[in-house]
Amino acid sequence: MAELVIKNLHVSIDNKEILKGLDLTIAQGEVHAIMGPNGTGKSTLAYTLMGHPSYAVTEGEVLFKGRNILELEPDERARLGIFLAFQYPVAIPGVTVANFLRTAINARRRAENHEDKGIPIPEFRKMVKAKMEMLKMDPAFAGRYLNDGFSGGEKKRAEILQMAVLKPEIAILDETDSGLDIDALRIVAEGVNTLRGGDLGVLLITHYQRILNYITPDFVHVMLDGRIVESGGADLALHLEEHGYDWVREKYEVVNS
Ligand code: ADP
Ligand code: MG
Repeated sequence: MAELVIKNLHVSIDNKEILKGLDLTIAQGEVHAIMGPNGTGKSTLAYTLMGHPSYAVTEGEVLFKGRNILELEPDERARLGIFLAFQYPVAIPGVTVANFLRTAINARRRAENHEDKGIPIPEFRKMVKAKMEMLKMDPAFAGRYLNDGFSGGEKKRAEILQMAVLKPEIAILDETDSGLDIDALRIVAEGVNTLRGGDLGVLLITHYQRILNYITPDFVHVMLDGRIVESGGADLALHLEEHGYDWVREKYEVVNS
C-alpha cells in the first residue's frame, strides 16, 4: 500500500526549528488540504518531503512504500512516485517543455531498466498532446522554454502538465492557486480533479480556501507553528474562510505564528 506516512517530523533551517513534530498520513486516492497562515512551515514541509538540502530533519520519519524516504536523494524520491509542484516554479531557458518532460520520463524508465532506449517520439508526442488538450493548453506551449516568460497561470499549468505526464502516486501542490485568475484556477483544478482518485494521493497546500471550491478535499488540516493542530472534512475549510485562524491560535495558545 503506497501511503505516505509522516511521523513526528522536526525540521530546522539555519538551526531554527520550523516543523515541530508534524504527523500526517495520506493514503492513495485521498486529497488532503493543508491550510495555515503564512510562515507556519507549509512550504518547509513540501521541500522537506522532496529532499531540499537546506532543510535539516532533526527528528521523525517519512515512510512511503515501506521505505524511509528521508534517506533518499530527491531524484530517487521522484522515481518512487513523489511529485512536487512548486509555489515558485523556476525558469529553465534553453530547455523546452517537451524536452524537459521527455528527459524526466526517460530518466524514470532508465532507472527501472538500464537497457531502456527511451520513450518512442511518436508515442511521447501523442501522450503530451492528449494531456495538453485535457489542460486546455495551446500546443505551441510544448516548444517554449520551461517557465521562461510564462505568466503565473502558465507556470502553474506547466506544473500540472508535468504531473499528468509523470503520473506520480503522491503529488504535493504548494500554493498552486496563488497568483491565478479565476479561469486559470478552474483549469488547474480541473486538471487535478481529472487526475485524482485511483493511485494518486494529493497534498494540497493552500493559504486560501478559494481553490477548495473547485477541488473538494477529503480531509482538511490546519497547520500552526510547525504542527498540524486541527483536522476535519471539507467543511473545516469553509469554517476557516469565515472565521480566520484566530480561533485556532487561541485554542492552541499559539501567539506569534
Ligand atoms: P509557509 O509556506 O507556511 O508560508 P515557510 O515554510 O515558507 O512557511 O516558512 C516557515 C518559516 O521558515 C518562516 O519563518 C520563514 O521565514 C522561514 N524560512 C523558510 N525558508 C527559509 C530559508 N531558506 N532560510 C531561512 N528561513 C526560512
Ligand atoms: Mg509557502
